[in-house]
Amino acid sequence: MKKPETIDVLTIGAGGGAYPAAFWLAKRAQRVVMVDPKGVMSGNCLAEGCVPSKVVREMARHVTRHRRFESYGMGGEPTIDYRKIIAHKDNVQRSRYIQHGEELVRSRNIELIKGRASLQDPHTVTVETDAGDRRYTVRHIIVASGADVFVPSIPGAELCLTSSDLYRLNPTVKVLPQTLTVIGGGYIGVETASFYAALGVHVTVLERGRQLLSGMDPDMVAMLVPLLDPRIRVMFEVDVDRIEQGVHGMTVHYRQGDFSGKELSDQVLIAAGRRPVLPEGLAALDIEVGHTGIAVNGALQTSHPHIYACGDVNGRVPLFHAAVRESLVAAHNIMAGDVAADTMDFTNVPTTVFTLPAAAYVGMTRTAAAQRGVAVVEAGYEFLEDSRAQIFGETGGGLRLFFEPKSLRLIGGWVVGIDAGNLIGEIGLACANGLTAQQLAAFADQHPMTSEGIGHAARSLL
Ligand code: ADP
Repeated sequence: MKKPETIDVLTIGAGGGAYPAAFWLAKRAQRVVMVDPKGVMSGNCLAEGCVPSKVVREMARHVTRHRRFESYGMGGEPTIDYRKIIAHKDNVQRSRYIQHGEELVRSRNIELIKGRASLQDPHTVTVETDAGDRRYTVRHIIVASGADVFVPSIPGAELCLTSSDLYRLNPTVKVLPQTLTVIGGGYIGVETASFYAALGVHVTVLERGRQLLSGMDPDMVAMLVPLLDPRIRVMFEVDVDRIEQGVHGMTVHYRQGDFSGKELSDQVLIAAGRRPVLPEGLAALDIEVGHTGIAVNGALQTSHPHIYACGDVNGRVPLFHAAVRESLVAAHNIMAGDVAADTMDFTNVPTTVFTLPAAAYVGMTRTAAAQRGVAVVEAGYEFLEDSRAQIFGETGGGLRLFFEPKSLRLIGGWVVGIDAGNLIGEIGLACANGLTAQQLAAFADQHPMTSEGIGHAARSLL
């Protein structure tokens, strides 16, 4: 192995938790090395997550609109060429990789190494590359190694597809199955069920619990479920025993209470969650790992103040945009000399379940407040009365805002239906900045856009 190189910052991973910090620090004359076995930036978000799944989602949404628009004098049952949808998805991914590559070429003080990093001691990192091992002496480390699909140890699980098989470049699935069984009713399972159903696939979701999207606000979920495609069938309190490959497709054997049954389908997707990817050497450094991932404080520091853990690897809010903000918080604190000059607001990060239609939430909802014994004042708006929703014929759903009783400060909200993923951004910004019902009501939000519902709801309290 070569003599160790001395650098300022090394990031383990080159995804959302790593590269925003890397660029920010490099611009401030820090010598930065990013390490990722993919050899490209953007992590799993672009490789097999947010971006590719949203390509399929938006194409599927177009299909649902096309069908509905038949009664408005256009559209009808569209022809769907899934191979072309996948080709478009692959093109979006490829062009974003090119864009990121160009960004990297333009930047000084920053290098991306294709390899796997492991921690040797608090200031030494080894990188295993195809051309041999490299060793770095570093002043600061950002662990941003992300998360991976969790496959439970059910016999036959290896026969199932994972979200990676659907969404990675040149994916396994290029032809739509007629029937699909989804094991797991979390957001990845329900989103995929929703896209595939819109594309004409009959989907059965097998959920172990009693609610889809467990952990999310039950009022929001209750509003969403009746709006999902009728091609989706959900079975609750199901424990999968084993999966078998037969001549005519796959069989999922399950138990539901005292009943033992089997579900037959062309393909099975396992969507039982994700778990953090921990780089080697972490345990020897006594870095605490909690049940969601590496334990961090609000400054994103681990038990070693110069070692940060950002993004999915800490499991606090496993979303790309949370990782980006966390990464910048870490960068600010590195520049400040490993002190908490900036902290992460883990509460006000918007989350969208990109089903058709979507459900989105931020901050504290009524159920979460009730669990903590906190009183809230609630305001609502229904898309039935919204002009944009009427224009699209998508009047299902609505939004709810939650305020502190005395100050009427906005502390949370959720949206189900048209534009949910956009609306939650505005609601989140208002929450994060402590805006009140009076301030929301005084803002002339645009007409005829669904965002006018936010002011409408706020005005109902005044
Ligand atoms: P996040 O959004 O939390 O940053 P991502 O999935 O976007 O998560 O990025 C994590 C990246 O970390 C992935 O591209 C993965 O390949 C990379 N990675 C995982 N383990 C290591 C490791 N030991 N060394 C370097 N990179 C790693």
